Amino acid sequence: MFDLIIRNANLPDGREGFDIGIAGGKIAAIEQSIAATAGETVDATGRLVSPPFCDPHFHMDATLSLGMPRMNVSGTLLEGIALWGELRPLLTKEALIARALRYCDLAVTQGLLYIRSHVDTSDPRLVTAEALLEVKEKVAPYIELQLVAFPQDGYYRAPDGVASLERALDMGVGIVGGIPHFERTMEDGARSVEALCRIAADRGLPVDMHCDETDDPMSRHIETLAAQTVRFGLKGRVAGSHLTSMHSMDNYYVSKLIPLMAEAEINVIPNPLINIMLQGRHDTYPKRRGMTRVRELMAAGLNVSFGHDCVMDPWYSMGSGDMLEVAHMAIHVAQMAGIEDKRKIFDAITVNSARTMGLEGYGLGIGCKADLVVLQAADVTEALRLKPNRLFVIKAGKVIARTAPRVGELFLAGRPASVEMARDYVPQVQQR
Ligand SMILES: [Zn+2]
Repeated sequence: MFDLIIRNANLPDGREGFDIGIAGGKIAAIEQSIAATAGETVDATGRLVSPPFCDPHFHMDATLSLGMPRMNVSGTLLEGIALWGELRPLLTKEALIARALRYCDLAVTQGLLYIRSHVDTSDPRLVTAEALLEVKEKVAPYIELQLVAFPQDGYYRAPDGVASLERALDMGVGIVGGIPHFERTMEDGARSVEALCRIAADRGLPVDMHCDETDDPMSRHIETLAAQTVRFGLKGRVAGSHLTSMHSMDNYYVSKLIPLMAEAEINVIPNPLINIMLQGRHDTYPKRRGMTRVRELMAAGLNVSFGHDCVMDPWYSMGSGDMLEVAHMAIHVAQMAGIEDKRKIFDAITVNSARTMGLEGYGLGIGCKADLVVLQAADVTEALRLKPNRLFVIKAGKVIARTAPRVGELFLAGRPASVEMARDYVPQVQQR
């Protein structure tokens, strides 16, 4: 009666030794011991089974372009934008599609099955939008890809910024982006937020803006974004990506700002890997870390989810499509290493990002989509620590990727023959 049963699974909430029965691409049973048989069985052997990872902030048009046409010498955000500007005229639809598909292959092996990607609309050729709309169709059987019309060079600042963004939306790009801190003036930035929220309201679309990705504490476009969200009736449908200026803001001002963001139900998307790499570049020492106020925003009830942002592109030479790597960095930069903290961080790359992306049927409940990942870790804490192999990746009840467990063999007299980090180094204090 089941198509697939996953046996002996530990769940993200700490429950252990459960069987998950899957029928018709959906989760049909979660029980201690399912008596029925199934067409296929996956033995989780007491490992963590989680809903798949969701990346709410990525740039799939730029990914895997590292070194084209040259490297980012200063390592700054602004040189990255300039470098992307050099590469952009050279982009072809075929090459964009090929790189995006290669990234999606990697994402699947990492258990990353939901991605929201910004699509640069600055070049009026819109070859980026054309390519990624095609990729969205191609990967739909295994990855849900959402696309944001993103005016990288400025909605007003780029010569064709306004018209190009509108055309990308007409083509089917489904989310309205923005970059208010990159407009020529603070006033232009605020006007762009208003105009873009109006477009979203008129078209019934969500908003996801790069907002205040700067160390300038006076970059306060998030305040405008929260206000326009309420004004245009967009509560819960708007995301503020990066928000790094909040790291440098005056505490008194933030005590006013966070409640305004909560009122507007802004989804907050820090990008820990990229923020720690690109922010604070004009500082000597002490050097700011740039990531927004994750703990405080979570405490105020805001939905915080982490994005990967970049993998091997003009802004970031590293990255591996692994949302656990993103979470690992978040734990360090936000200094959230307590047991409850870690649960919240894990939520930020799973259920919270699903909420940001407005996903339906996501999760580990009866009737949810049977999209699941079996990790080589016993629990959430261990998964965050080890960034372990994804033993099985399951989409709609079918195994679509498999990776062998990582075990190191030892050839030392009087020592064990092998070491598995996940099983052989369980802490003395129960973490679950
Ligand atoms: Zn970004």
